[in-house]
Amino acid sequence: MSAPFDDRPARPDPAASAPVSPPSSAPTPDRIKRVPPSRVSRERLRARAFEVAAKLDTSRPLDRYELEARARLILEESNQPEDYLGWTMVALGAAFWRDRVAATPYHRRLLLLPHCLRNADACPARYNEFGLLCKDCGACGLSELRGHAEKLGYNVLIAEGSPVVMQIILGGHADALIGVSCLNVLEGSLEKILLAGVPCMAVPLFDSTCRDTETDEDWVREMIDTPYEPSRHETHTYVHLLRCAKRMFQPEEFEWLVPRTRGGPTLAETNGRGLAALDPVAATEAIAYDFLLRGGKRARPFVTLAAYDAMTGSRATGADGAEQVAEIPEVVRRVAVAIEVFHKASLVHDDVEDDDSHRYGHATLHRKFGAPTAINVGDYLIGLGYRVVAEQRGRLAADAVADILAQLAEAHTRLSEGQGAELAWRDARNKRLAPLDALTIYALKTAPAFEAALYAGLRLAGPAEAYRQPINRFARHLGVAFQILNDLDDWQADSPQRRTTGADVLGGRPTILWAMALEHLPNAERDELQTLVAQAAPAGATVQRVAELYRQAGVYQRAAALVEKHHRRAREVADAIQPDPLRHLLYYLADSILER
Ligand code: SF4
Repeated sequence: MSAPFDDRPARPDPAASAPVSPPSSAPTPDRIKRVPPSRVSRERLRARAFEVAAKLDTSRPLDRYELEARARLILEESNQPEDYLGWTMVALGAAFWRDRVAATPYHRRLLLLPHCLRNADACPARYNEFGLLCKDCGACGLSELRGHAEKLGYNVLIAEGSPVVMQIILGGHADALIGVSCLNVLEGSLEKILLAGVPCMAVPLFDSTCRDTETDEDWVREMIDTPYEPSRHETHTYVHLLRCAKRMFQPEEFEWLVPRTRGGPTLAETNGRGLAALDPVAATEAIAYDFLLRGGKRARPFVTLAAYDAMTGSRATGADGAEQVAEIPEVVRRVAVAIEVFHKASLVHDDVEDDDSHRYGHATLHRKFGAPTAINVGDYLIGLGYRVVAEQRGRLAADAVADILAQLAEAHTRLSEGQGAELAWRDARNKRLAPLDALTIYALKTAPAFEAALYAGLRLAGPAEAYRQPINRFARHLGVAFQILNDLDDWQADSPQRRTTGADVLGGRPTILWAMALEHLPNAERDELQTLVAQAAPAGATVQRVAELYRQAGVYQRAAALVEKHHRRAREVADAIQPDPLRHLLYYLADSILER
């Protein structure tokens, strides 16, 4: 710290100013997720984190790369081991966001407490869909923390993980988060929230045992008590655009953006009588609209809105983003909606082709109405998407409409080619597959939707020819890495994305894991792998043996390395992109979509 009246220029703080380069995007290994055991060392590291955070650029959220690199520097200069990296990252993140949390009134803050802090043997509380319903029995500290926060005006949840938190924040019920959790959950769950620019302070639990855990409760209280102070800094945030994308699919706004042409009752208004209560000509529209409003992350329309905003002054991510987002023109919203309509069409057809049973917690359309009706609804959605874009002529220059339609048509045909290749492989007797062929299918199936969503937003803002090549490469790397991550999730017993372990093998999908296993296994095991899936052996035994052969071939590590490679390449494409807001959007997309 400079002495009072010392007018020499302050020496740069290495932990705050040293340039950082992207380290690995792989999950942090357990060995560097230890909590400093003594209170004194925790306090020293925390104080240093506040000093470093005060010197950082607060105009943009701190991404994981920078957070990790600066936390490493703090540990090195403090002679502390790398073991405390995860803990120090949390401390630095909390210090970085402290002012933005302070600028959020109490009633707009959410306190997230972990249920494992309770006294597991004595606790009489039950759960509902939002978490633990504490009965204030006094057997643990949760009751006191909750009561104290609620008195100040906080919303409080005793739950774990980000999905419900993200729902609350994107639903517009809270603007900042104070969270207590173990380092595993903090790394896995809160990263998306932080990347989106949601102010968040967290305190790690002392261990990850999930039972009768403890933490620095006085720090939690101190965070809860953070007094309200209007902001001195503004940090860009995507929250307003994420909320906008979600709102567009609320019934009132959606029906205003894309009015029904047939009218009549919605499916919900038939009081359970379903199609029988509908005019047969209006039934397809009713099923399609019901499906469109049912669920989904609305990631693609967000991409279109955010790309448009990035090219038109980046107002919706700035200080008064909540007001500015209302200024996004109707034409942009309608095209963003169309992007989601195409996505939903592909989901309906995918569900039929894979015979999936559920989507968004409901029976899939083909299971509910039959395959012919579901295919027809998918076709209707494709037509609706093209119609919504085409109808923007007059509000949008004809060449812009034509360019967007051409990009959508290109995306559509490539996606169908990728899906066709996958189906052909599934039905083939020969299950040989080269890694390059698997990656080609991934690029065709996953990248075009990202690319079309990005391109549409850019083209709505003006000429976009110069961006065609870079966003094509960016979307390809992102799509491939995203698909490989999904494949890896398929084989992780504790993955939230996983429905059934090894579902890709049982469903006959051509994956990079399969291709790598064929490439790296000795001949005998390679033959065994191919005959395994051809036999009618019990699913559990097949999956278990395939998992062993995958391990033997080292496919999990190879695939994880490939994710890192494509993640890095996507960021390298972004490095050369101008203007700054668009470049930062691409970083955000790469990091948040590939975050696990
Ligand atoms: S205070 Fe609440 S959470 Fe803690 S043991 Fe009692 S009922 Fe359970």
